[in-house]
Amino acid sequence: MVVVSAPPTSGATRTHCPYCSLQCGIELRPTVPGLPGPLALEPQADFPTNLGGLCSKGWTATSLLDHPQRLLHPLVRTVRGDRSSPFREATWDEALGRVVDGITAAQAAYGRDAVGCFGGGGLTNEKAYAFGKFARVALRTSMIDYNGRFCMSSAATAANRTFGIDRGLPFPLSDVARARTVVLVGSNPAATMPPAMQHLDAGRADGATHVVVDPRRTATAAGSTLHLAPRPGTDLALANGLLHLAVRQGRVDEAYVAARTRGFAAVRAGVASSWPDRVERITGVPVAQLQQTLDALTAESAMILTARGAEQHSQGTDTAQAWINLALALGLPGKPWSGYGTVTGQGNGQGGREHGQKADQLPGYRKLADPADRAHVAGVWGIDPDELPGVGVSAFEMLDRMGAEGGVRALVLMASNLVVSAPDVNRVRARIEALDLFVVSDIFLSETAELADVVLPTAQWAEEEGTMTNLEGRVIRRRQALPPPTGVHDDLWVMKELAERLGRGRYFSADPGEVFAELRRASAGGLADYSGITPARIDAEQGVFWPCPDTTTDGGAPHPGTPRLFAETFPTPDGRAVFRRVEHAEAAETPDADYPYVLTTGRLMAQYQSGTQTRRVPAPSQSSAQPEVQLHPDLARRLEIGSRDIVLLSTRRGAATFRAQVSDDIRADTVFVPFHWGGASAANALTNPALDPHSKMPAFKACAVAVSRLGAPDEDELLTRPPVHTALSAPTRPTLNQRLQPSRRKDLPMLAQNRFLQGVFAFEGAGMDKPAPLSPELSHLVPEGVVSQALYFRGGNSSDELVSLVLMRDGVAMRYFPIGAKADVHVPLRVVEDIDGGSLIELRLLAPEGLTGTLVVDLGLVEH
Ligand code: SF4
Repeated sequence: MVVVSAPPTSGATRTHCPYCSLQCGIELRPTVPGLPGPLALEPQADFPTNLGGLCSKGWTATSLLDHPQRLLHPLVRTVRGDRSSPFREATWDEALGRVVDGITAAQAAYGRDAVGCFGGGGLTNEKAYAFGKFARVALRTSMIDYNGRFCMSSAATAANRTFGIDRGLPFPLSDVARARTVVLVGSNPAATMPPAMQHLDAGRADGATHVVVDPRRTATAAGSTLHLAPRPGTDLALANGLLHLAVRQGRVDEAYVAARTRGFAAVRAGVASSWPDRVERITGVPVAQLQQTLDALTAESAMILTARGAEQHSQGTDTAQAWINLALALGLPGKPWSGYGTVTGQGNGQGGREHGQKADQLPGYRKLADPADRAHVAGVWGIDPDELPGVGVSAFEMLDRMGAEGGVRALVLMASNLVVSAPDVNRVRARIEALDLFVVSDIFLSETAELADVVLPTAQWAEEEGTMTNLEGRVIRRRQALPPPTGVHDDLWVMKELAERLGRGRYFSADPGEVFAELRRASAGGLADYSGITPARIDAEQGVFWPCPDTTTDGGAPHPGTPRLFAETFPTPDGRAVFRRVEHAEAAETPDADYPYVLTTGRLMAQYQSGTQTRRVPAPSQSSAQPEVQLHPDLARRLEIGSRDIVLLSTRRGAATFRAQVSDDIRADTVFVPFHWGGASAANALTNPALDPHSKMPAFKACAVAVSRLGAPDEDELLTRPPVHTALSAPTRPTLNQRLQPSRRKDLPMLAQNRFLQGVFAFEGAGMDKPAPLSPELSHLVPEGVVSQALYFRGGNSSDELVSLVLMRDGVAMRYFPIGAKADVHVPLRVVEDIDGGSLIELRLLAPEGLTGTLVVDLGLVEH
């Protein structure tokens, strides 16, 4: 048992909860003033995000400070280099010596990039900043990234390319209470950050309309005005459908679009084919609900807030972009009590992504590839810009090449439990096992630390000084209420010591105040400019919002900070926000005969991220919680699964076991599991590591899964036994003959897939007797073993004469769809006809020779 020593003072320490991005204000004080012992915790009644509220995680946070499993000594393997040998305690000198030996050997054999660094969104700004500098100055490697890639990188990428800046909320959280409409997309604050609900509740009490978009009826959805429950992975189509309606109904803010944006014409054309009934078929959201949502969004003030449910997809950036497009078209960003924002998850998810932990980034959102940015930061660091390495690779790309040709051979990991939180954890575990050296800094022996060569114990939140940046972009102070246990050091000290041993110690400080002062200089002039933010101002002003340049050097008044962005302009080269056309694409993996349902993952109220901390909290609600799979009663009945049964989930990557929670709060084609556990119930043994091409975000939120009953409620041992996984390596479809046979497997119902031949095309007629190809996008080879059926045709014709689209099968005309001059048609095909696999379907054009114009075409097909 560790005895935690309170500082010799009876005063309170004003600091913040260690967990989520709300960073609730709390006060810590010794239980017995002036004496060693446990700390008492109270919420700060006046801190603007939590207003005296805390969730169960916050209330129990101090219980981990003297937890019996706390790491108090460095650990090394008994047999050096053999990770199957047990750990033994070591001195810091021995442990750091092993780390430096391994780093030196890897770099001597394979080059500087053979050593990688992996950080976390829970690190203070100072540690995140120092880690980026440690990689580039002490190790001189380009290989650094962090777990924020797995969090909000898609929304950050979309915001950067549209607004020219990425700050999660561009306004204080309290503005939410003033908005007449709030649309929450894939966000569940009632469970993940309950004190934030005070702001939403105040708005609703004042008559605001709240719309929640989520495949589950979460606690947030249950309290909303309107709940839309789309199929996971279709939020982009939903947003485009809303924008289609806005355009058609003349509800675009044309003056705002003309004055403050560019690129809308392409987006307007892009959503032309997002007809509401088509969107309904893709998403499952009724047309009437689309209309209600748009009506709400055109209120006097409105906000659209996305979170991980919309963003953690292989098309997450484009999905966030679609919601941003909608917000811009309605003129929301920069208007009072309006705009677009993303709700950051991790405690320092905002600050952690600003100061250099990312592979392409330098402090202050500067770019590693920009010569001026390199020169500025190198000047602050006292090195030659040419000493800085180049741009590295993203988190999963680095992890997936570890120990392999061209990949890192040694990894230093801080504040992350990868084998619980990364996608496809079995694959990540195998890559870790291939490393020559694996070093983990943590407060507990997490599932990932158990795999390390060297484990370094580190200080906890209440034992350190530093700054954090919350979901609003408000920079706040983390204060030390007691020293770390004897023999435990914080990560700044560790980086300084390692740098000393690598001959680069003169560039580093272990003092958080000195590091923050240097961070301010390094960020000066950058997008995330902290140079005007001082600890004294943070204390006096309940935090300071960045950007906050230092305007006092020439005797000027201090910059007030920037609570609200975009009121006048956007930080893009021409001051305008940039629309980008985005199209719906199916998820990277969709259900098929072998994996017939959609798996989605998320968080529970009592747990935080990988659960390294919260699963150890003694409170029964946290320590004894069991991982459950939520599934609809219809699905449970079909699969003969009862409440509390043990259920096996399998995907192409792995298997995991959960207890069944049967609930009609979820779609019948979707199952949900929390990702806070490892072992037999590791949700991320199932998830798909397919990456978003822009943000490199893995597809955590949608993949194909098989579900089956494993045992009765009392067969608890099934939840601890490694689940048996029999992978089918590639998507399979039954042959046509198989399809015609009644299925004998109740758990493998056939699922239909929609397909669309569509787009907007300029044309020149070849003659009314010559069906001419219009575009390669209007042809489709029906896959073998599948049957396709045309469901409807929609078309619009801008020309002054009649034209006709011809549906061809293998070169033979099947149907004609005439479209009058300057007219549009909608043809439901009520008598459907099977088109067998192997057939070539095409839409060709009949138009008078020489006639020019534009056609909007949309042929809806279903395949099964
Ligand atoms: S976990 Fe988040 S919501 Fe809960 S107390 Fe901590 S900061 Fe507040």
